[in-house]
Amino acid sequence: MNFELTKEQEMTRKMVRDFANNVIAPRAVDIDRHAEFPKDIFDEMGRLGLLGIPFPEEYGGSGGDTVTYALAVEEIGRVCGSTGLSYAAAVSLGASPIYYFGTEEQKQEYLIPLTKGEGLASFGLTEPNAGSDAGGTKTRAELTGDHYVINGEKCWITNAEYARSITVTAVSGKREDGKNIISAFIIPKDTEGMKITSPYEKMGVRGSNTSEIILEDVKVPKENILGDPSKGFHQFLYTLDGGRISIAALAVGIAQASLDKALAYAKERKQFGQSISKFQAIQFKLADMAMEVELARNMVLKAAWLKDQKKDFTKESAYAKLFASETAFRSSNQAIQIHGGYGYMREYEVERFLRDAKLLEIGEGTSEIQRMVIARQLGC
Ligand SMILES: Cc1cc2nc3c(=O)[nH]c(=O)nc-3n(C[C@H](O)[C@H](O)[C@H](O)COP(=O)(O)OP(=O)(O)OC[C@H]3O[C@@H](n4cnc5c(N)ncnc54)[C@H](O)[C@@H]3O)c2cc1C
Repeated sequence: MNFELTKEQEMTRKMVRDFANNVIAPRAVDIDRHAEFPKDIFDEMGRLGLLGIPFPEEYGGSGGDTVTYALAVEEIGRVCGSTGLSYAAAVSLGASPIYYFGTEEQKQEYLIPLTKGEGLASFGLTEPNAGSDAGGTKTRAELTGDHYVINGEKCWITNAEYARSITVTAVSGKREDGKNIISAFIIPKDTEGMKITSPYEKMGVRGSNTSEIILEDVKVPKENILGDPSKGFHQFLYTLDGGRISIAALAVGIAQASLDKALAYAKERKQFGQSISKFQAIQFKLADMAMEVELARNMVLKAAWLKDQKKDFTKESAYAKLFASETAFRSSNQAIQIHGGYGYMREYEVERFLRDAKLLEIGEGTSEIQRMVIARQLGC
């Protein structure tokens, strides 16, 4: 078994690490404080090819793999959870479903501008009354002539205000057994009847754009249906499996940042005449954090590798998402503890890590849903 990264993977990681340290990190505090979506940073990431990492060159991508992409998400998440979340959502939820399931025409029209960094895309699944139970989608799409007319509402959709296209799920008919058929539709940004606002005041990932979408008689040509119309539900489950790897990678980044800050502070802070890193109680916290970060990273890379090998990765991506997000929460919580009162102050940044990490236990399937996915894979 080979645990080495390839030369290309190492090079991309270094490039993204430098970009994260030099360009994103100095802005991270303000992005959080002012809930400011860093549009210019995304433009720059587009120019560097970061938005196209896991897509083939023929579709404008960098021809990288999922492992490389996971390393990039971790590096960005290490310095800024908000930018990390919007990056992960743009690639895994915005562009990926068009790459997985789109027709050649859809890839030319909607995927290539995304991989080239000319815009972002969003994935609108969640509704006010259909969260974990995404099969309970109420949004409807009716075929009238050669158009679908879509009506409904989506909530908490990442990047929607800045997206050039949004893929939404909607009920498009009924199966023979009476169950709803859910399909996915690509809606270009300026389509009449689609209203996007960002009214939420969030606890964390404050600089990541989170939007509400109201769809009122939104007309899209029937060619805008994504993939097999009868398999929309399976398509979004597959999309979420892939997205979980990126959320897990983001969690590893936040957990690593928490460890780095806590270790540096523990060495520097003196109480009772010595640095607090000499106290076994603090050492044990740091040891646990380091071990969990390493385990979480291994799980992310294994799930990414399985996906790259075209092997089944549903269980492993759920393991990675569940363990890494809970690791990020525990590590950021311990980082605050190690900082004592200073950790409770905004200035020391670790409280931001905790606020950002919390989202990762909720988005793209809550921790409870991950445990259900794993249990189902065990045959329960
Ligand atoms: C910042 C942010 C960004 C987001 N971005 C997107 C996006 O880009 N696109 C998108 O489509 N969605 C997005 N979401 C929505 C997110 O995926 C949902 O919030 C998540 O799936 C949970 O749904 P819910 O919030 O409705 O919670 P609910 O489903 O109402 O769950 C509430 C609680 O009940 C538990 N629960 C529910 N069902 C079960 C069960 N069967 N067994 C045990 N426990 C259960 C849950 O685990 C949770 O603890 C985003 C959310 C946030 C906060």
